[in-house]
Amino acid sequence: MALKLFNTLTRTIEEFVPLDPAGRAVGMYCCGPTVYDLAHIGNFRTFIFADLVRRYLEFRGYAVRHVMNVTDVDDKIIARVRAAGVSLAEFTRRHEAAFLEDLDVLGCRRPHHLPRATEHIEPMLDLIRRLIAHGLAYQSADGSVYFSIQQYIARGHRYGQLVRIRLEDLRAGERIRSDEYAKETAADFALWKSRAPEDGDVFWPSPWGEGRPGWHIECSAMSRQLLGETFDLHLGGEDLAFPHHEDEIAQSEGAMDPAAPRRFVQYWLHGAHLLVEGQKMAKSLGNFFTLRDLVARGYSGREIRYLLLAAHYREPFNFTFEGLQGARAALARIDECIGKLRDRAASQNAEPDPALIDEFTRALDGDLNASAGWAAVFEWIRRQNRRLSEESISPVEAAAGLAAWDRIDSVLGIGARAAAEAPPEIQALLAERQAARKNRDFTRADALRTALKDQGWLIEDTPAGPKLKRK
Ligand SMILES: [Zn+2]
Repeated sequence: MALKLFNTLTRTIEEFVPLDPAGRAVGMYCCGPTVYDLAHIGNFRTFIFADLVRRYLEFRGYAVRHVMNVTDVDDKIIARVRAAGVSLAEFTRRHEAAFLEDLDVLGCRRPHHLPRATEHIEPMLDLIRRLIAHGLAYQSADGSVYFSIQQYIARGHRYGQLVRIRLEDLRAGERIRSDEYAKETAADFALWKSRAPEDGDVFWPSPWGEGRPGWHIECSAMSRQLLGETFDLHLGGEDLAFPHHEDEIAQSEGAMDPAAPRRFVQYWLHGAHLLVEGQKMAKSLGNFFTLRDLVARGYSGREIRYLLLAAHYREPFNFTFEGLQGARAALARIDECIGKLRDRAASQNAEPDPALIDEFTRALDGDLNASAGWAAVFEWIRRQNRRLSEESISPVEAAAGLAAWDRIDSVLGIGARAAAEAPPEIQALLAERQAARKNRDFTRADALRTALKDQGWLIEDTPAGPKLKRK
């Protein structure tokens, strides 16, 4: 069986074949955060999706090189820096650190490379020089450098690979300086923005005068430096497909040797957007949440990760507080079953049970169908619980189940809470109760059981001795 992915470039499900002739190394790039504020849960849906892709490729035996850029200079950042009266670096590093902490809370593996735009100005200048040399970029009267869509098309390239562009609307030489522009409006976009008074001291020297890079050139330059002219996977939220990703393709393919054109990215994967309580997230609607907002309401990173991983990445997902409650209940079911299997397995070791792994792999091989993957997990939990209650599961079988769960969880990344998680003072009360029972002081033993219950812990007497369980 092979991994199949929906490629936005071809609009079909294709078998994943890496460029590496040995079939092992995989280059993967995901557009990262613009570090001017805390990321919201819609952003994190995309980053958790990228983490799923990376973890699943690693599970499948690939050696992944995961790159995520950090956009630490752009229009919004410059405006905030001026308002805050601090330096660009001081401002952006603070937000970058908060972003990485949030990734950790959500159990995302950190990308291998987190290149900052401001530290890669030279590769960007190099790319712009190439585009000018190929006749694909020009300097306008204000000193900014623009990419020429018309010249790009005239040289046989295709603009509009990811989304259908109405090229009849293309007006020669119409220019857009802003990094974000309306859908499907093809216009020349800025590669280098000449220094403006509102930029303050945020500028770099260049062959075309002082200024700063456009947003799109960042990703083309940094992916090229870290993954090469052509690489396997490029990920991002669906809102980035146009113009950002389309412009990345134009810049990267335009900068290649015209005698040896290649496809910039083999597979483009786009995650669908997130609704909150059925609506588009907006501060004005009161449904705009950062990760920290949810943590402050008592939800864990693990619960939020579970919920954001529940649906297929190409389906829009409706995030609700009811869903978060459901996530809590689902995780409790997993924890309880894994805890019982641990008790049953005791110190046994075993090879992973292939049944769970096979079903899970079948689900994820089909364009990373995580919802089918979870269905396989819960079907397995149901079977384990039945056998546990029938006491028909041997320690070796329990150990094989646990080993399989560990493999699956290397992809899901939710872990399973250890059964004996009670704090020391609770453990001490339990020990006291055992001593009382041993001395046949049942009144005292019962009083201690009640004391534990009052503190939220139940005692379950099992053949292997008493176990503590959260009420
Ligand atoms: Zn990007």
